[in-house]
Amino acid sequence: MNEKCSKYEELFVSSSSEELEKHLQECEDCKAEYEAQQKVSSLLDEVKMYYYAKRKKRIARLRAACAVMFMVFSLASVGGFALTNDDLMDTLKYGDTLSAEDLGFPVDADGLLMVDE
Ligand SMILES: [Zn+2]
Repeated sequence: MNEKCSKYEELFVSSSSEELEKHLQECEDCKAEYEAQQKVSSLLDEVKMYYYAKRKKRIARLRAACAVMFMVFSLASVGGFALTNDDLMDTLKYGDTLSAEDLGFPVDADGLLMVDE
């Protein structure tokens, strides 16, 4: 029984690709090993592609989530600012800032609040 050729690994690691190819053409054992390895590496490529595609999708989803969160937070802070800023709300609602007179308070000639003694 023939001893299985064990040169493959050695050639694969230390020799040039021409030397390896030349040996593969004349050695069935190494050729079989080479083909098995090609199968494994193409399988690994497939897994890698799948993994990267999945990761890309995940990153896109994460980015979209960040954009949504950013929008929610900026809208909330602008909204919060607007709701606590009476002048801004008046301008938005009535088109102008309301004076004390507009609000129905008694005012003097200068538009300042009059306070009864
Ligand atoms: Zn061989």
